[in-house]
Amino acid sequence: MTSQPSTHSQHTNVTVIGLGPMGLALAEVLQDRGHNTTVWNRTPAKADDLVARGAHRAETVAEAVSASPVTIVCLSDYDAVHAVLDSAGDALKGRVLVNLSSGTPKEAHAAVDWAAERGVSYLDGAIMVPPFLVGRPDSVFLYSGPQDVLDEHRETLAGMGDPRYLGPDPGLAVLYNTALLNMMYATMNGFLHATALVGSAGVSAVEFADLALNWFMPSVLDSSFAGQAADLDAGHYPGDAGTMEMNLNALEHITRTSAEQGVHSDQPRLMRSVAEQAIALGHGGDNYLAVFEVFKKASPAG
Ligand code: NAP
Repeated sequence: MTSQPSTHSQHTNVTVIGLGPMGLALAEVLQDRGHNTTVWNRTPAKADDLVARGAHRAETVAEAVSASPVTIVCLSDYDAVHAVLDSAGDALKGRVLVNLSSGTPKEAHAAVDWAAERGVSYLDGAIMVPPFLVGRPDSVFLYSGPQDVLDEHRETLAGMGDPRYLGPDPGLAVLYNTALLNMMYATMNGFLHATALVGSAGVSAVEFADLALNWFMPSVLDSSFAGQAADLDAGHYPGDAGTMEMNLNALEHITRTSAEQGVHSDQPRLMRSVAEQAIALGHGGDNYLAVFEVFKKASPAG
């Protein structure tokens, strides 16, 4: 099955390569929206349900990319992307690949060179929702690279979620992705460690969560981040309402309390070390957001 590129979204052909939990969700949603959907996966049986609902199972990667004007790639990482797509050979020439696999900016840039050598139009992207939220209009999908490729296939891509274009630098989508996941893991770890801390006194997670989250959302998130982002850009950290030295004291108490209560203390010790580094840089009298100056530099050796 081969096709010519088309700008009409529904009932046009689309190919999905990679049928892990995320690729399956993408293919299902595209199929539900009326696209003629071709799929390929290293383990072919994962396509069985899609095929039963009318999808076409390509026998080879070359057949898969030839079936549609646009191919969505959703594999575990960029090594897998190259391992899979290298086998398509000349079939890639003139095709559009939208790579939604996770990776690093360096890998995204290398993928652009790889695609250019093969005559492929390449758009990099990242998915910011779990599989069960794919297809909702407010589910964020990040894209970076050539905007004309996004615009040409916007209708198809918008079927999977809200396409947010970040700019022509192809590494931006995966960079935003890792930045946002970093924020998510750090926030989750903060909550989980705090819950372990009060749990050492027999407080249940349910009991703690109610108070903790209602306190955290308005008093920490709103005032520290949204309100002070402009100060981060300006490098302006007035310490009139509380200094880094005061915050180091709090971090010292968290570290000691963790040890006294018999819970894990690596995380508070790391936060204490970062505050100490900020003070060593001369920010002892600034507010806590000055740790941004520490984070902007590579970690000290050792
Ligand atoms: P995954 O485990 O990250 O990826 C599974 C897919 O990669 C399967 O299709 C698997 O094929 C394929 N694969 C891995 N190594 C391969 C290789 N060497 N050769 C050929 N195929 C290979 O599961 P996923 O959840 O579907 O994630 C896909 C991508 O979406 C990842 O980059 C992930 O970070 C991203 N993502 C996932 C979520 C989520 O919540 N799941 C959310 C946002 C973004 P087989 O089936 O044959 O093993």
